Amino acid sequence: MSPNESGGFTGYTLYPQPNGPTSQPWSSDTYTHVLVNADRSWITSTIYHELRHVLAGNFGRVAPYGAHHTGNIDQSTEEAEKEAVKNQLDVMRK
Ligand SMILES: [Zn+2]
Repeated sequence: MSPNESGGFTGYTLYPQPNGPTSQPWSSDTYTHVLVNADRSWITSTIYHELRHVLAGNFGRVAPYGAHHTGNIDQSTEEAEKEAVKNQLDVMRK
């Protein structure tokens, strides 16, 4: 999850229950989904961020590993956002 400074959200990774944490929205089916709020985010950066959650949670099989403040997920999602910005700027410069 990526709450922003105004209390909204930029994106969510929705893990299926019962594998997901109950403190955030979860998938209504057996698949892991990424939800991006296009009104509050730079879409590319948010997608990169959320996909790191998907990977860290092994596609929902071990969703708790994808939670913030777990393992290196905070560093990993931050690096993903930076990578997205770099890639986007590289494309814009061409
Ligand atoms: Zn996050």
